[in-house]
Amino acid sequence: MWFDTHFHIDLEKAPLAHDIFEAARKMDVRLMLLQSTSLEDNPFTIGLADKEDDVYATAGLHPHTADTPYDMALLKELAAHPKVKAIGEIGLDYYYDFGDRVKQRIMFADFLKLAVECNLPAVIHSRDAFEDTYAIVQDNLPQGHPFEIHSFTGSVDESLQWLQTGAMLSINGMVTFKKADNVREILHHIPLDRLLLETDSPYLAPVPLRGQENTPANIPLIGAKVAEELGLSVEQVAKLTTENGRRFFNI
Ligand SMILES: [Zn+2]
Repeated sequence: MWFDTHFHIDLEKAPLAHDIFEAARKMDVRLMLLQSTSLEDNPFTIGLADKEDDVYATAGLHPHTADTPYDMALLKELAAHPKVKAIGEIGLDYYYDFGDRVKQRIMFADFLKLAVECNLPAVIHSRDAFEDTYAIVQDNLPQGHPFEIHSFTGSVDESLQWLQTGAMLSINGMVTFKKADNVREILHHIPLDRLLLETDSPYLAPVPLRGQENTPANIPLIGAKVAEELGLSVEQVAKLTTENGRRFFNI
């Protein structure tokens, strides 16, 4: 069985959600962690998880929303739902810069503190912002508090620095892209007990489905590429990444 540790469902796609989960189950994707990103989608994703046994959710706000005021008391209430298994998707995005950078940093620190308060792992997005992400994690998470860098696509050097701090690294469909040699190189540096898999759907459909809408049903395509790269069997990769996810998210 497989575990898609990171994907999204747009609010407009709500009527299709159950079909998306069913299609994944048919591909033996038996655990799914739906990511929250905005004030609107937090209650929506948690509500979906509440209705499906094998679907879990995160609570948190994506750095793209940093310019919108938020109420931490409300987010704390949402995070207390039993199907919420992490605080995310949180972090810094200096590539798109949709949110003011100062506000992004304040919001990120607020949510790391919430992760500590709620005793939940943190799901961290970091794009073109390694140094600030690293510093804010060091300042706000106590040593040993679980966190992951999702859709990791940084440099080998950055991956090694994250691994030294105890981070989990999550690999998406980019590992199948012809040009993504850096992702395949990083893969070889990740200890097998720190590796997670994700589709980050509906974005980043893996080869041979590029250009199509991605879904959690595509995790086996990503896992097969990871297996090929690491010289492991597909079953071994399914088992170890699912076990890592269950341990990390306490499922
Ligand atoms: Zn995401």
